[in-house]
Amino acid sequence: MKAVILHGPDNYPNNYEVMDIPKPVCGDEEILLHMRAAALCGTDKRIFTGAKTKGVRKDSVVGHEICGEIAEVGKNVQGFSVGEHVSIANVIPCGHCPACLSGRENACMNRKAIGYEFNGGFEEYVLIPKICIESGNVVKLPEGSID
Ligand SMILES: [Zn+2]
Ligand SMILES: [Zn+2]
Repeated sequence: MKAVILHGPDNYPNNYEVMDIPKPVCGDEEILLHMRAAALCGTDKRIFTGAKTKGVRKDSVVGHEICGEIAEVGKNVQGFSVGEHVSIANVIPCGHCPACLSGRENACMNRKAIGYEFNGGFEEYVLIPKICIESGNVVKLPEGSID
């Protein structure tokens, strides 16, 4: 499948490359999302120029403002079906640090994010990890909303 690989800030302005990479294999606890749209936000610009590096992995797939259609659902995942349209809240809070316990998950000290620690949406299929599903970050969209 096609993916935009971030080679790292050192290569600016040639740090993105469209490459063919293997389609992710959907595990029993995961969802495989067929990407429909991935927006560019200000953080993407900062990643592109190298101003933002925290959590960004060299030779990874970024893109964290994403929505798509569920292509596969792991056998142990409840509540989601193939064909549903979903958006992904990209910041995954840990749920047990002081910030999370006071209802400020956005300030979580241990947060992970799609497009950072996990491959993001600048690819044809993105794997949604278990902790993203369990934390309620997979948000169903009205039917037909991304057709
Ligand atoms: Zn963003
Ligand atoms: Zn936390």
